Amino acid sequence: RQEMLRKADIALYEAKNQGRGQYRIFEHVMDESLKTRQQIGADLRLALQTRRDLSVHYQPLVEISGQRIVGFEALVRWQHPVQGMISPTEFIPIAEEMGIIAPLGEWVLREACQTARQWPDLTLAVNVSPLQFRAPGFVERIKAIVSKEQVSPSRIELEITEGVLIDDEKRAKGIIDGLRAAGFRIALDDFGTGYSSLNYLSHFSVDKIKIDRSFTHSLGMSGNAAAVIESVVRLGHAMGLTVTAEGVENRGQMKALARAGCNHLQGYLFSEAVPREQIAGLVNPREAS
Ligand code: C2E
Ligand code: MG
Ligand code: MG
Repeated sequence: RQEMLRKADIALYEAKNQGRGQYRIFEHVMDESLKTRQQIGADLRLALQTRRDLSVHYQPLVEISGQRIVGFEALVRWQHPVQGMISPTEFIPIAEEMGIIAPLGEWVLREACQTARQWPDLTLAVNVSPLQFRAPGFVERIKAIVSKEQVSPSRIELEITEGVLIDDEKRAKGIIDGLRAAGFRIALDDFGTGYSSLNYLSHFSVDKIKIDRSFTHSLGMSGNAAAVIESVVRLGHAMGLTVTAEGVENRGQMKALARAGCNHLQGYLFSEAVPREQIAGLVNPREAS
């Protein structure tokens, strides 16, 4: 009986996960995937406690000419002792489910602050999960961290996604305004992938939009990709925002994005995310070599 209930519960969880209003019949793979997730979650909790196997890498954001680095985005990395490198797209949702996304995100912010102190001319971008954003006291905690690390909030760009809007728009607006009043810059990440990106812009004051890499990727492949990007850039500029394009992998994309008027570029064409020690080599390539 107990086993039957357990399995029914797993199937229920699957149904909820797929967006409610539907049913699922238990299958063994569901059990396997749950066990793996639980195991990964437990491993992640341990990694966060011991600070072992977790690190922060930094990917440059460059000026449109491709010649000058304006800042770096902090991206968390997890080298699992058995499974090897696990992608943040896989373990961030697990951290959210386990309720450990806030301490994880705060640790990344502290690391980024230390990097910011080392590189006074650069801006550091840090990703914020919607769950972390909605946790009570978020603004105060973020302010306390940068103040303790002795970094000016103006040097930190918080990357949020449309996910922060779900539930309570008014509260989300209050949080964003609080962060901006404290001096942080706000970037809207993965712009264009959700269903309400434009709605978002009309309701919230942000400083920057980051055009999702799926748009960059379709440049040169789909006929109207360039037109879409051009209109997003025009819209962003009309609202006084900086526009960054993500996922720039080749010169053709870079040219098209320059033509569209993007301000900053980010992507493998310039560099992937690197450990802190390798920042110097990217910022001053001549001195390093
Ligand atoms: P994101 O914030 O949109 O970060 C950009 C992702 O695109 C990174 O993947 C980066 O490595 C990848 N990327 C950069 N240039 C290129 C390119 O030219 N081509 C392609 N195909 N990909 C490129 P990564 O590091 O695997 O991170 C994935 C996502 O995980 C991030 O997307 C972000 O949403 C999340 N994430 C990473 N670190 C953190 C963190 O510290 N906190 C939170 N809450 N989320 C994080
Ligand atoms: Mg990001
Ligand atoms: Mg993105």
